[in-house]
Amino acid sequence: MNIVLMGLPGAGKGTQADRIVEKYGTPHISTGDMFRAAIQEGTELGVKAKSFMDQGALVPDEVTIGIVRERLSKSDCDNGFLLDGFPRTVPQAEALDRLLADMGRKIEHVINIQVEKEELIARLTGRRICKVCGTSYHLLFNPPQVEGVCDKDGGELYQRADDNPETVTNRLEVNMNQTAPLLAFYDSKEVLVNIDGQQDIKDVFKDLDAVLLESVQ
Ligand code: ADP
Ligand code: ADP
Repeated sequence: MNIVLMGLPGAGKGTQADRIVEKYGTPHISTGDMFRAAIQEGTELGVKAKSFMDQGALVPDEVTIGIVRERLSKSDCDNGFLLDGFPRTVPQAEALDRLLADMGRKIEHVINIQVEKEELIARLTGRRICKVCGTSYHLLFNPPQVEGVCDKDGGELYQRADDNPETVTNRLEVNMNQTAPLLAFYDSKEVLVNIDGQQDIKDVFKDLDAVLLESVQ
């Protein structure tokens, strides 16, 4: 399955991706996670990405397209991939199409998880993430069993530097401006599926899985 997950920051892409990986084993490729890992490792890519990320701005297309090209060429993507957070601009989407065409492949579904702005702000400012495995929790909506500790591996939970109220507002603005033309792009290619993200996590997954089941048949 060649799938793109779309949705504004906080829509639940990472949360749903975990469930997809658990059920299907498809590699989850999150450009945000890749940039955060590069920052932690202090690589050249991390240095480049950090100044943009700290402001909630997008990392330049040529940098982002480069890391996705490299990742998709790895053998674990041979049977499919789940892209999360990429593409975010029409030039990125066009580059992805070219890249996949070169590999003799194409996107099957673009799944757009829809959530209202007020709900997104509440989700992002209450989000906590495991330092070890990256699982997302929420202080109120999806708390861990023990406060501050990951259910899966006991890792410490932290708040992302860009999940503060000011950066969140800017990230939402930037993303809303970029997303509209991207949704139109995929709609015109008849691969776009909209899903109501304002339901319980398990109900969002049910809707999403119905789309995925179509593409594994
Ligand atoms: P994204 O990857 O799209 O930015 P996340 O999956 O990290 O979003 O989810 C953002 C926050 O919202 C997290 O704190 C997560 O626990 C919470 N969350 C995710 N899905 C739901 C949902 N359906 N209802 C309520 N909270 C949710
Ligand atoms: P969110 O969707 O919650 O903003 P991500 O983890 O997907 O979080 O992304 C965090 C940051 O990484 C973004 O604010 C942006 O700076 C950078 N980033 C991630 N994906 C892309 C992309 N496709 N193009 C440009 N920048 C990106």
